[in-house]
Amino acid sequence: MAKYILEYLWLDGYEPVANLRGKTQIKEFKSFPKLSELPWWGFDGSSTRQAEGRSSDCMLKPVAIYPDAARGENCALVMCEVYMPDKKTPHPSNARATIPDDPGAWFGFEQEYFLYKNGRPLGFPCGPNNYPYPQGLYYTGVGYDAVGSIAREIVDKHLELCLAAGINHEGINAEVAKGQWEFQIFGKGSKNAADQVWVARYLLMRLCEKYEVDVNFHCKPLGKDVDWNGSGMHSNFSTTYMREVGGKDYFEALMGAFDKYKNEHIAVYGPDNHLRLTGLHETQSIDKFNYGVANRGASVRVPHSFVDNGYKGYLEDRRPNSQGDPYKIAGRILQTVATVPTPGGKAKQK
Ligand code: ADP
Ligand code: MN
Ligand code: MN
Ligand code: MN
Repeated sequence: MAKYILEYLWLDGYEPVANLRGKTQIKEFKSFPKLSELPWWGFDGSSTRQAEGRSSDCMLKPVAIYPDAARGENCALVMCEVYMPDKKTPHPSNARATIPDDPGAWFGFEQEYFLYKNGRPLGFPCGPNNYPYPQGLYYTGVGYDAVGSIAREIVDKHLELCLAAGINHEGINAEVAKGQWEFQIFGKGSKNAADQVWVARYLLMRLCEKYEVDVNFHCKPLGKDVDWNGSGMHSNFSTTYMREVGGKDYFEALMGAFDKYKNEHIAVYGPDNHLRLTGLHETQSIDKFNYGVANRGASVRVPHSFVDNGYKGYLEDRRPNSQGDPYKIAGRILQTVATVPTPGGKAKQK
């Protein structure tokens, strides 16, 4: 038997954006533990806006485990769902529990974020009214002027930690604004990619502690009145039906449903999105829904490959923002998809 250091992670009850919380327990196992070997645990919900002080227990149900290479050997990150003390009722803050189980649903999230130091993006000159060169050479750029001196070290280290954890990063890139970056995570299964995004966010925030750098996930941290991009979390999705059957009629019916439920989507696509979805900076405005082939100004971008393959494949919903909860985003997308009839299968009601 060996001692394992397990960091149990969960989302707290703060609105409109939940925070990651974590605490450590040490347990003995013969080898790296399987999910089914991990015990439930509890925490004081009165300190996380998840319970009253008089009855403060909340329960943690492990739902995914990842090696925690940054911490050391025999260390793991354990993503958890929050339950009521009866261990049967999901806590109201537990959005993951509302996602339908569907191994055929695949998601790819493109997480954009800013690295911040002293209240300004990393590499911005000191002072609230001082800006670096206008946007242009930062996106995928190289050199001190473009990316500064420590951002790339953080971003590369984060990638290394995520890969060591078994997180399925597909790529990283410097983004359009100075101090802004992106990583992409892909996962098969309705909850898998979302779990990985939360753990990747955790690893990034924890890594940045020692650089005295903050991760700013706000979708428009510099405000809407300056010519600096906001941050999104484009959500690429497909179902077995979309990949294998698809077709133009189904696609149009699907987009009809996305139009019909546009407000329900926006409601879970991250706060303050009206600051970002303005119709400028590669976005559609928040009150409109449209789609377009290779159109980065559309709500949903249809990849060329989708049309070329007879309307089969994945679609990119460009509206979710960087602060959105991937559990809520995936859940809402699948809820809308389920309202569209598929020949041979029956659509569920909203
Ligand atoms: P762009 O920046 O041009 O929008 P990216 O390469 O950053 O494109 O992101 C594309 C995303 O699409 C990736 O996260 C990838 O995992 C995802 N993706 C690719 N194929 C599928 C699929 N069949 N189902 C869901 N997502 C997919
Ligand atoms: Mn991208
Ligand atoms: Mn991007
Ligand atoms: Mn994209």
